Amino acid sequence: MEYAKRMTRIKESTTFKYSALARKPGVIDLTIGRTNYDTPKAIKDATKKALDEGKVHYTPTKGIPELRERIAEKLIAVNGIEGIDKEKVLVSAGAKQLIFEAVLATVNEGDTVAIPDPSWVSYESIVEFAGGMVDWLPTYPEEGFIPGERFFSALENSMPKLIFLNSPNNPTGAVYPKKVIKRIADIAARKNAWLVSDEIYEELIYEGEHFSAGSIYDKCIVVNGYSKNLSMTGWRLGYAACRDKEIIDKMNMIQEQSVSCATSFAQYGAVAAYGKDAGKETATMREDLRKRRDYLIGRLEDLDVVCVKPSGAFYAFPSFKEDDDIKLADKLIENGVATVPGSPFGSKGKGCLRLSYGASKIEELEEAVKRIERTIQ
Ligand code: PMP
Ligand code: GLU
Repeated sequence: MEYAKRMTRIKESTTFKYSALARKPGVIDLTIGRTNYDTPKAIKDATKKALDEGKVHYTPTKGIPELRERIAEKLIAVNGIEGIDKEKVLVSAGAKQLIFEAVLATVNEGDTVAIPDPSWVSYESIVEFAGGMVDWLPTYPEEGFIPGERFFSALENSMPKLIFLNSPNNPTGAVYPKKVIKRIADIAARKNAWLVSDEIYEELIYEGEHFSAGSIYDKCIVVNGYSKNLSMTGWRLGYAACRDKEIIDKMNMIQEQSVSCATSFAQYGAVAAYGKDAGKETATMREDLRKRRDYLIGRLEDLDVVCVKPSGAFYAFPSFKEDDDIKLADKLIENGVATVPGSPFGSKGKGCLRLSYGASKIEELEEAVKRIERTIQ
């Protein structure tokens, strides 16, 4: 069979691949990036009400105005992104779709895109599918995976059309300090590059504070959503916003010719995410996740592995002596624990495994570490 040439530039998603491999009886699943909590009741109730009221039709492509208004208010009040209004907000079927649209709208064949190494597996694939080329910006465990001088020197030497920023970071859990984010935004401004600031783990921070590059740089496309903080991965709902309305309108055009709009009743449900009840559930979940993190990191410290204590998200990213992380991840599945190998997140992930503690209780984490220990001994 002959397929389009662009199909040689897209890879299977390693996170979904290992999540599928984990679906075996008796295997403890530390693969996919989700939590095991339910979506807050207020959101489910608002969604049921929308269904009962017949809100089952297409919505405006950008999303229902009442949701985009809430999002704009939040971006101004919480993130300090002055000048945002509902026309500068685009709601879509998940943050991933919005990243796709942002890249397709800005990156030409042969353009360079700068991506922190390691980073979420989908950035590289989306950029390459669009015809772009990746310049990796290295981060190191000894620096807590926070961008340091080697990162900035790689960025200075790059001529990117677009730069990715993701704090808290998937897979390292690193939360970038404000001064680091400012320095990245300054370089982006000097190079006239777009910035995609992926803030999907914003509300899952245990130490440090979130700072949005969208508040200081006009060409920053902020991407966020409901998947992680409200346990809504299956709802497929996220949003993007930018002070520059034109880029949002371009992304909207791609949306109009592809997904049309996000699911109508899911959007009505998400309006309830801005009430106090949903926020309380995020806070409870965060405290629970903190306990899991502390337990898991403590146990990993007992093993002979290097693991930076992650300040956010719900991943640990330990480095093992075994260099071939794919072989190690495969061996671990045979021994009853599924993780995601580190090298598909970038060369700096070589020898690492990503362990998600989002969906496993402490008892499962305890057994998972025992199985890891037995495998590496
Ligand atoms: N960005 C990062 C860093 C992620 O880990 C994920 C995975 N959910 C996404 C974006 C996509 O999220 P969504 O479910 O909203 O598409
Ligand atoms: N982002 C999550 C992860 O890294 C969900 C799967 C995906 O979209 O890659 O596991």
